[in-house]
Amino acid sequence: MSKQTCDMIHDLLPLYADGICSEESRKIVNEHLASCSECSDMLHKMNRKVAIAAETDISAVKKIKKRVFLGKLIMAIAAVVLALITLICGYFFAVTDCSMDYEKYNLAENVWVEEDSEGQLWFCMKDNAAALSAFAYPTVSDTDGGHMGYKNQTFNREKKAGFGYTLRMLRISKIAPFDYPQKELRFPISRDKKDIKYIFYYDDVNNQEYVLWGEKPQ
Ligand SMILES: [Zn+2]
Repeated sequence: MSKQTCDMIHDLLPLYADGICSEESRKIVNEHLASCSECSDMLHKMNRKVAIAAETDISAVKKIKKRVFLGKLIMAIAAVVLALITLICGYFFAVTDCSMDYEKYNLAENVWVEEDSEGQLWFCMKDNAAALSAFAYPTVSDTDGGHMGYKNQTFNREKKAGFGYTLRMLRISKIAPFDYPQKELRFPISRDKKDIKYIFYYDDVNNQEYVLWGEKPQ
């Protein structure tokens, strides 16, 4: 093969490799390549370079995509964890309740039982008790000191002694301001007075009963 023909083909090869030479030039190159191993080799090398360059580009793009994906994944996990913590804390403070400590909330002055002129008994509360309590949890005591409805106590129905309440408040109320006036609240005690020897407030935090009405049998 003449050196001149090979030189001309070398000039055409880049266009040929990119597929942008004319149909006529393509024919000439094809014919030459079929019979010239030197030019064929050159074309192979060219194609390989292009392939390697393309591959390098692809792996760089893949790396960036991977980094972006990891970033998004970490953000998503962080968001889920944050949402869970918020939910658990929200549930603990705004949904679950705890007993009102008798001494701490000054219930000696804020909780009492009254009997009206018709003999109806009323459970009454004001200030801290009225402001902070969410509900009054009823219970019955037995003569052995057990209380109905408390898991860690045994309650003997045959030895019923008195009837009482524990004021329960949401845990979040523990951070509420203290000692502010609140108007009196009262609800009727539906039990028949004949069946009740005494009515008490039960502070289950300290396992203490405080008699509000009647007399606790000794
Ligand atoms: Zn050649």
